[in-house]
Amino acid sequence: MPRGVFERTPEYRAKQSRAQAGNHRALGYRHTPEERAAISAASDAQWADPAYRARQKVARRRETSGYEAAHDRIRRDLGRVREFACITCDKPAAQWALNHDRAANRTHIQLEGKYAGLPFSLEPADYDPRCVRCHKRYDLDRKKG
Ligand SMILES: [Zn+2]
Repeated sequence: MPRGVFERTPEYRAKQSRAQAGNHRALGYRHTPEERAAISAASDAQWADPAYRARQKVARRRETSGYEAAHDRIRRDLGRVREFACITCDKPAAQWALNHDRAANRTHIQLEGKYAGLPFSLEPADYDPRCVRCHKRYDLDRKKG
């Protein structure tokens, strides 16, 4: 491969032009204009169906449910948990664990979906990086009181 600035000489451009003749993907399009029109028409037909629109609305609502929104926010603000060490044993962390004491006044309970019943906080600072073992132990110790 050439290094540094790659000069697109008239000869190079002419060669590329010949090589790409008739290739609609050379302009960055993955589809021909006819294909794009067909995809657009199919999408319009889909969205014209009230049942389809209703399903899309439900899907969007589920994506932004509290528990998942909270964890998206943690990842955005604090980063990937695997780049941290567990605050208890110093081994690589695997999960963002809710610190129940710090989150005491702003803990919510997820009411629906696959995380139903789990507590969460919308404040990323309420979470600590823990390994799976220490996270389980921490939550179990709290339940025992
Ligand atoms: Zn640990």
